[in-house]
Amino acid sequence: MKFFILFGPPGAGKGTQATSMKEKYRLCHLSTGELLRSEIAAGTPLGLQAKSLIEAGNLVPDEVVEGMIEAKFGATKDVDGFLLDGFPRTIAQAEALDKMLERRGEAVTSVVSIMIPDSLIGERIAHRAAIEGRADDASPEIVANRIETYHKKTEPLVDYYKAKGKYNEIDGVGSIEEVRARIFDHLDTI
Ligand code: AMP
Repeated sequence: MKFFILFGPPGAGKGTQATSMKEKYRLCHLSTGELLRSEIAAGTPLGLQAKSLIEAGNLVPDEVVEGMIEAKFGATKDVDGFLLDGFPRTIAQAEALDKMLERRGEAVTSVVSIMIPDSLIGERIAHRAAIEGRADDASPEIVANRIETYHKKTEPLVDYYKAKGKYNEIDGVGSIEEVRARIFDHLDTI
């Protein structure tokens, strides 16, 4: 099984690129953000716990997302691998993922990191807000908090995966098709 991590700041285009990646490489796309938004929509206890954190632009507790991911690993059949989108987002989550995969005799295959400068993040999120209406895209203060959270808690993962020789950076500036072609060029070598 292949285990790809789709990495990058908010607004980098992870969700957009995931759709074509999962089709071409027969992957199960697991977006922790989407899973959490469905829990909120369904009004589950987990959704209620996550709602205020997400809407303020903060992370939900590590154990919550780790549990969601592990449950999906166990329940998914008939794919060649997984595409993790928005997970891991902290070093603790990355360590938990390594342990989860080790228990299954597996390991992270490659981190595909879509990089865009901070100056583009606001523009991309404003565009998405107009289309998708996500609560956490709506206010500049919440978006600023998500960018800060990304730099503080998630960006250290770059060095974590570089040290393991698994980090691959893709230039995320350009059209959807241009970025997709760069990602496919990388994945075709694996
Ligand atoms: P996303 O759709 O990936 O932008 O995620 C939306 C929000 O869900 C994030 O801003 C966090 O509040 C929460 N979230 C998603 N994935 C994680 C994660 N791996 N760890 C903690 N919180 C997460």
